[in-house]
Amino acid sequence: MAADTKQVVGPNKVVAVYFTLKNEAGEVVETNRRGGKPLIYLHGTKAILPGLEKALEGRAKDAQFSVTIPPELAWGSPRPEFIEKVLRSTFPEDMKVQVGLLVRGVDPNGKPITATIVSIEGDEITIDRNHPLAGKTLYYDVIVAGVRDATREEALHGHVHGAGGAHH
Ligand code: ZN
Repeated sequence: MAADTKQVVGPNKVVAVYFTLKNEAGEVVETNRRGGKPLIYLHGTKAILPGLEKALEGRAKDAQFSVTIPPELAWGSPRPEFIEKVLRSTFPEDMKVQVGLLVRGVDPNGKPITATIVSIEGDEITIDRNHPLAGKTLYYDVIVAGVRDATREEALHGHVHGAGGAHH
């Protein structure tokens, strides 16, 4: 049976995927396969990791595959300047600061930041603003759950409308 090109992943296709992300140790980091909703994105818009988008190119609906994505096609290398020391007084007094805690806040320019507390020495706390998966090789198991043409409006906007996308 000839492949229906309408259901093949490529530019201007809206793609629905189920995935399980594992780390080098084989532990599940993230999955939407346990009763979760599929990830829906517009192909070719850098809405997902470059390595994942590349691996999905040309896949037909219902395809299942595994892909190993090096850091440079995922979250990149950790940047040393993203590790910095801050004073305990930066955090709310009633907050229980501890190593490994993920903290959210805003930088002096009002930009939202996420950081992990990596060490605590007295009043001095070291935080790491790198993405937790920076420098990591990622292991994805993927199922292509659906492929459809983007509407003209979606293609124009560069994102998905309706279920799993923007509502406006
Ligand atoms: Zn839109």
